Amino acid sequence: MTKPNTTPLILNGKEVSEQIITKIKAEVSNIHSKNKRPPGLSVILVGDNPASHVYVNNKEKACIKIGLHSEVHRLPANTSEEELIDIIKSINKNNAIDGILVQLPLPIHIKAEKIIEIIDPAKDIDGLHPYNLGKLLSGQKCLVPCTPLGVIEILKYYSINIRGMNAVIIGRSTLVGKPLSLLMLNENATVTVAHSKTDNIDGISRTADILISAVGKAKLVKKNWVKPNAIVIDVGINKTLENNKSLLVGDVDFEDVKSNCKAITPVPGGVGPVTVAMLMSNTLQAYKINNNV
Ligand code: NAD
Repeated sequence: MTKPNTTPLILNGKEVSEQIITKIKAEVSNIHSKNKRPPGLSVILVGDNPASHVYVNNKEKACIKIGLHSEVHRLPANTSEEELIDIIKSINKNNAIDGILVQLPLPIHIKAEKIIEIIDPAKDIDGLHPYNLGKLLSGQKCLVPCTPLGVIEILKYYSINIRGMNAVIIGRSTLVGKPLSLLMLNENATVTVAHSKTDNIDGISRTADILISAVGKAKLVKKNWVKPNAIVIDVGINKTLENNKSLLVGDVDFEDVKSNCKAITPVPGGVGPVTVAMLMSNTLQAYKINNNV
């Protein structure tokens, strides 16, 4: 058996994100210099979920930093499904906007699937419209969900070989696990998707050369789930209380796992910042397609 690495490489999401943002900024600055309209992003936030407010503020700041045009619609929690649909239909027609993002989760009286289907697929920078998900499934160029894209960017930035590797993804959501399994397949990994009903999940996880967790359960993944020298990507973001202090932690028990793996993403500072960068990247991609650039 391979001897475990005692000092893993920390996969720095901020560094990966900075590199992506620098490239996008240069392209956007070039667009500005030609006096063309910049790419535009419209974010819709319904209700008072504190985490959603933080995410939306971060996205707004990133737009400003890059020079994208951005608008945020902050709507009250009692906004009706019909009102939200009308707003999206009007943004679909707005030529200054290339990307529309509806921040999830939505209040329970609004069906997310119904709302996502209203978004013009050409402006669906979250890649969650069935049109884009279908294209992803059939291996065609399309707008792809940002977090799975971010995971691939991290692996590529650190020149981690994906081809032929055993990848285990824990979590099968439409937002992360399922699209990530398709992206990893496209990169020629052998992919297993584990989930809440999987038997022997620790044993299955231990077969992974690349182990990715997207569950939403603090410190679920322990050292004995990880094959020595595996690459561990932690998508989870969980709020916990430790010593009366509120902390953000991942799905992976970082302190327990770090002595057993080759490389690992921290939380915070891992997948999160790259997700925001990929949102900016998708907005630029939508702009280019919509403007035949
Ligand atoms: P989700 O709730 O939609 O899906 C969770 C998945 O985990 C489900 O498929 C479920 O089957 C599986 N699961 C639940 N309990 C399990 C268990 N005990 N063992 C194995 N599998 C189990 O969540 P999501 O939207 O996919 O998000 C997952 C996590 O990733 C959350 O913590 C979320 O906050 C985080 N997230 C982070 C980013 C980022 O940018 N870093 C982006 C999106 C989501």
